[in-house]
Amino acid sequence: MSVYITDLCINCDACIEECPATAIVSADESPLADGEYTYVKPEKCIECVDTTVPKCADVCPTEGCIVWDMPYIPDYDEYYIQGQEAGKYLIRTHKKKGLLSPANQPRPFRDSISLTQRAESMAVEV
Ligand code: SF4
Ligand code: SF4
Repeated sequence: MSVYITDLCINCDACIEECPATAIVSADESPLADGEYTYVKPEKCIECVDTTVPKCADVCPTEGCIVWDMPYIPDYDEYYIQGQEAGKYLIRTHKKKGLLSPANQPRPFRDSISLTQRAESMAVEV
């Protein structure tokens, strides 16, 4: 990731259309077995690096609902794989490329957000 949608989400789905990376799906389409909330696919999120603010957070009516997660880069491959094993994510497996984990498909991320802020799941501010 990326960003992560927490259980503060009210499933209004306003963020879905705004995402330039088509990384967000509604709870009904969540790949998680028990997905109750709108879900961000970490293997797709590009943290809106080309815009001033993350577009999902910009339209979200629920303060603090969307938080920062770790960068989707090889250093955090194990982090995301463990998260997948814990049921937090379900990373897509590509027919030819295999699991699209950070080592296999790194994504752009914002340098301006520190690793500490990410580890503390700081809310995405806009
Ligand atoms: S930060 Fe940007 S790319 Fe990531 S889920 Fe939100 S809108 Fe999509
Ligand atoms: S805009 Fe916010 S509250 Fe609405 S679905 Fe997205 S994350 Fe949830």
